[in-house]
Amino acid sequence: MPLDKNWYADMEARIPKGGVRTRFAPSPTGYMHVGNLRTALYTWLIARHSNGTFILRIEDTDQGRLVEGAVDVIYQTMQQCGLIWDEGPDLGGPVGPYIQTERRDLYGKYAELLLEKGGAYRCFCDKERLESLHGESGLGGYDGHCRRLTQEETDAKLAAGVPYVIRQKIPETGSTTFHDVVFGDITVENETLDDQVLIKSDGLPTYNFANVVDDHLMGITHVVRGSEYLSSAPKYNLLYEAFGWEVPQYIHCAPVMRDAHNKMSKRHGDPSYEDLIEQGYLSEAVINYVALLGWSPRGDQAEREFFTLSELAEAFDIGGISKSPAIFDLEKLTYFNAAYLRGLTPEDFHEAAEPYIRQTVKDPALDTRLIAPLLQARCERLTDIPEKVDFFDTLPEYGKELYTNKKSKTNEEISLDMLQRTVPMLEGLQDWSQEVIHDALIGLAGTLGVKNATLMWPLRIAVAGKTVTPGGAVEICHILGKAEVLDRVRKGIDLLSHTPS
Ligand code: GLU
Repeated sequence: MPLDKNWYADMEARIPKGGVRTRFAPSPTGYMHVGNLRTALYTWLIARHSNGTFILRIEDTDQGRLVEGAVDVIYQTMQQCGLIWDEGPDLGGPVGPYIQTERRDLYGKYAELLLEKGGAYRCFCDKERLESLHGESGLGGYDGHCRRLTQEETDAKLAAGVPYVIRQKIPETGSTTFHDVVFGDITVENETLDDQVLIKSDGLPTYNFANVVDDHLMGITHVVRGSEYLSSAPKYNLLYEAFGWEVPQYIHCAPVMRDAHNKMSKRHGDPSYEDLIEQGYLSEAVINYVALLGWSPRGDQAEREFFTLSELAEAFDIGGISKSPAIFDLEKLTYFNAAYLRGLTPEDFHEAAEPYIRQTVKDPALDTRLIAPLLQARCERLTDIPEKVDFFDTLPEYGKELYTNKKSKTNEEISLDMLQRTVPMLEGLQDWSQEVIHDALIGLAGTLGVKNATLMWPLRIAVAGKTVTPGGAVEICHILGKAEVLDRVRKGIDLLSHTPS
């Protein structure tokens, strides 16, 4: 049956022309690799930098890898990171559908077109024959047996219902050169390329075929992806050529490494984006750090480290992408994260910190709005918080040696004296505001003729039971409330009055 040329013409007519169009094409695995997040980010940045269109396409033809809920993870992650798409499975758009399994019929039609153009052929070889080939060459390359079938032989097999795949017809001689924006021109001899399968016997496309057909039909101008796909690029080029389609710009990114020798890998325990969020990192910090994993700003921005997403969109240029692998450094990310935490408005910090405070501070009488400001400058990750504030709920067991501190000029004896003098003064306070507590304590130190720290140190130990706390004695007393403070101070007095036998 002759091909319906009008149908193909209609498909071509749908392709938007003129602007930059990029796509992020994840396979739904259930989590977002740091390397994938970087690909998504660069892809988004290229589109935004040139007022182009950013497309989300789900590549789910590899049915074996499907994970339940995995597409939602992609949506959530992209949204959390601010990488908002203009066309995609949920939004639709002019060149949908945007999920590969829903495009299934298209691939078959384009394979037919390629057959007609002479860029592909049907291969009827059975499993046994293919396995025997693997044995002989040791490489697994196909020997081109079915390339040489005559039309009559092919028709007879089709009529007899012999199952077949469709393979790419790679030129037997010559070489193919493709251009990558990051890696430059790369040339390979065609004889080294395999007549790869494009359509499997079940009618589903292979990844390499679907990818080319989709990128063309979606009008993609810039293809950003990991450098593991570099070796497939010559075959892609030959497909574009055989169809008579324009080749997009290739931007292959060097891998993100765990160390000098190993790629980051979830299987080896390296964190995914979701793991990092769980470990208390902010999306904004992760995005900022990941942007610099393999890209550097140039010119007068060359030394700059901190960028919001929209600042990145402005500064991003493809020429700043590096050919060398980047090493993921958790310490560096932590440094970014601490800076982002400090930079939040008090309101936003409270919102982010509250669930972490509540992991250990369960007493509803303790106000997280008073606790959060003590933490903002003192944590690198949100997950640092629960341990820092656990003493609010329950005074930990502590040893009296904590009361000795050289700098504050305190020892156990002085501390006991300070606490004993503090009790009646605190009892007498009518108002329990931070200011009143502060002025009363400073006043008492003055009356006693001691350094402020000589009074504050023992008080803080008594109310917190630890030497390192977010906030000083005044803030902690204010948050705990008068009754609890007096109770804890009396416990301190007991501890200090008790001489070990
Ligand atoms: N689906 C591929 C992946 O998740 C994307 C490759 C591409 O962007 O061309 O690795």
